[in-house]
Amino acid sequence: MTDPLKIDTLVEARWIIPVEPAGKVLENHALAIDQGVIQAVVPSDEAQARFDPRERIVLDHHALIPGLINLHTHAAMTLMRGLADDLPLMEWLNNHIWPAETRHVDAGFVFDGTRLACAEMLRAGVTCFNDMYFFPEAAVQAVLASGMRAAVGMIAIDFPTAYASDADDYLAKGLALRDDYNPHPLLSFCFAPHAPFTVSDRVFAKVLTYAEQLDLPIHIHLHETVDEVTSSLKTHGMRPIERMHKLGLLGPNLIAVHMIHVTADEIDLMAQLGCTVAHCPSSNLKLASGFAPAATMLGAGMNVGLGTDGAASNNTLRMFEEMRLAALLAKGQSGRADALPAWQALQMATLNGAKALGLDSVIGSLLPGKAADITAVDFSSLELAPCYDPISHLVYAAGREHVSHVWVNGKMLLNQCELTTLDKQEILRRAGFWREQMATTRLGQ
Ligand SMILES: [Zn+2]
Repeated sequence: MTDPLKIDTLVEARWIIPVEPAGKVLENHALAIDQGVIQAVVPSDEAQARFDPRERIVLDHHALIPGLINLHTHAAMTLMRGLADDLPLMEWLNNHIWPAETRHVDAGFVFDGTRLACAEMLRAGVTCFNDMYFFPEAAVQAVLASGMRAAVGMIAIDFPTAYASDADDYLAKGLALRDDYNPHPLLSFCFAPHAPFTVSDRVFAKVLTYAEQLDLPIHIHLHETVDEVTSSLKTHGMRPIERMHKLGLLGPNLIAVHMIHVTADEIDLMAQLGCTVAHCPSSNLKLASGFAPAATMLGAGMNVGLGTDGAASNNTLRMFEEMRLAALLAKGQSGRADALPAWQALQMATLNGAKALGLDSVIGSLLPGKAADITAVDFSSLELAPCYDPISHLVYAAGREHVSHVWVNGKMLLNQCELTTLDKQEILRRAGFWREQMATTRLGQ
């Protein structure tokens, strides 16, 4: 009989849903964590004999899942939550969001907004997010303060802001930031050219060159509205996807956000080329942009992840809601109740996001050797009773209010619903400060 192995943490749970293999549910299992890495996923009684943990946590009526991955957001825009609602995309952007950004967005805004987003996401079981916003160096400071994981967008856009003067300046600043933090255990970087209608061919070519040299993802809004497609036909004589294809951007590194107004041929082309789609159903519904044919894309073999988009257009960062909506919309669109089943919605919110970010060897499922990025969902609430199938509950019945614990890289960042790294009162105080600032824009003063 060998001595039990000393480890940092043993988490015993009623269920563990590793996501790999798909649909698997392990009952009364434990997850052994040491130095931030999952060492084993084994039956609880076996774990007690095999391991001598410094900390043992028993979650009798909980499910452990991989930390959720928000594949598209603008974290700092939490400070614009509810600033302007019930408007179509271009009117919302031109008359409300862009003027507010011009007046108020600086490094302090981005730090406070991103920190608020990190707090909200951790409480909702999100452990990693793919961000696109100005002043990413301030976003990085907020992410590091929270202890969560992020893919930081090196944004490029063809108009000046307080952050950068032109697209070359944006890219230079993004690349300098990456140089400061690469490699980092919690940070990765993506190129984030904003959208086909805000970025020129010259800048796309430059982004592509860098992305190929550095093997980094390219994160872009694509085919979000009918207007985007028709104006591209006018300006460029082709649809945005065709333009991206001609520029050489379609490939395994592309994370195309939204992808609502697409033809069957475009789906086949992008599937063949290995592109990822970040499906953001709440934002698409709220801005009346339409519905991405997610089940068709998945059926074509495309990698499809889920995102909340920014809290200015959602107006929350609830990945549980995105899973549920993705599953329901797919059924409504296709007329097939078996379209996009619960296990697949959970896979989209975890492993598919990790694949898109090039991080699937590190996160996205609960397998030995991967980082301990874990979310615990408490199933003891009456609205989750009874439970026949925990995966069904995760997608169709549970919400962020049932998230009890979150670990990132083995560190507990949410303990019994309480944030361990971030100060809730300070975050609320800063949100109140920005509300006062933003209210002046809202009143048109
Ligand atoms: Zn967006």
